[in-house]
Amino acid sequence: TAFIVGCSSESSKTDNQANDTTKLIANEEKPYIGFVLDTLKDERWYKDKELFEGKVTELGGHVKTLAANGSDDIQITQAELLIEEGVDVLVVVPTNADTASSIVEIAHENGVKVISYDRLILNADVDHYISFDNEKVGEMQASAIIAQRTEGNFAYIGGAETDNNAVLLRQGTMRILQPLIDEGKINLVYDNYTDGWNPDVAEENMKAALQDNGNQIDAVIAANDGTAGGVINALATKNLDGDVPVSGQDAELNAIKRIIDGTQTMTVYKSINLLAENAAEIAIQFANEESIATDQTIPNGKIDVPATLLEPIAVTKDNIEETIIKDGYLTTEEIYGK
Ligand code: BGC
Repeated sequence: TAFIVGCSSESSKTDNQANDTTKLIANEEKPYIGFVLDTLKDERWYKDKELFEGKVTELGGHVKTLAANGSDDIQITQAELLIEEGVDVLVVVPTNADTASSIVEIAHENGVKVISYDRLILNADVDHYISFDNEKVGEMQASAIIAQRTEGNFAYIGGAETDNNAVLLRQGTMRILQPLIDEGKINLVYDNYTDGWNPDVAEENMKAALQDNGNQIDAVIAANDGTAGGVINALATKNLDGDVPVSGQDAELNAIKRIIDGTQTMTVYKSINLLAENAAEIAIQFANEESIATDQTIPNGKIDVPATLLEPIAVTKDNIEETIIKDGYLTTEEIYGK
């Protein structure tokens, strides 16, 4: 089969080079899975890559991973390259929830199924979505912060607006905060998304929030550990780190160290192992043309996408041992250097 991009007029053309590559790979009996990442910048994605590749290989498949460096254009090109190489299934962490719909279109024109990994692709016929309950993550972040402060000036430092997870997180957080805002106890003095989830942008935004409020910020809900790191740097310039509760997510090593030091209040642990393993199993099943049993669906603006949603776990100083250490996500040695 020739590689098809865009409209069907291309389908009759035969590109010899593409054909040869396709044959080379397609002749192999192993299922071939393409894994398309947004970035490898945040610590977790490296774990996703290692664990996903390991599981696909263990299940007898063959996998190639590409990361787009935060560019949705690069991501679409990478997906096209993998389709051209003859992947059976694409597993995508979309950089941009909207523009990634074109990846699904091109994949389907070429008979390739698409799994939306961790982040949902919107307005497209996505074959499966696997993630954590992101609204619940947002609720956990807000709940842990209001356990420390029930009133005062709050700042919301969100994720990237182009990532559907960032939108879901904010919805979950607002469900917890809104009653206290309505009662006049909480004053949400800053509420913005953070371009590309970039910690430096989060730091600048937090500095602006402090500046605009005469340094009177009583609590911060940061959407992940990367942005929390930026927020805490900004607080440190005013000697406020440790005094202002800050949330996070991902159980990154530096965040766990900050939780132990008392500059970050909490993080959310999401078992990347479970996510990667489940995704690898589904990908191999799709490659073998088996159907996947699911009891959930999540609407993405076009269809109700069959979904697998895993449970996040809130982590504070008090349960590091029985969550991330027990699970082997991070070791005592990594955390305490012993
Ligand atoms: C993921 C988070 C991650 C963030 C930035 C989100 O979609 O769910 O775990 O911190 O992207 O990479």
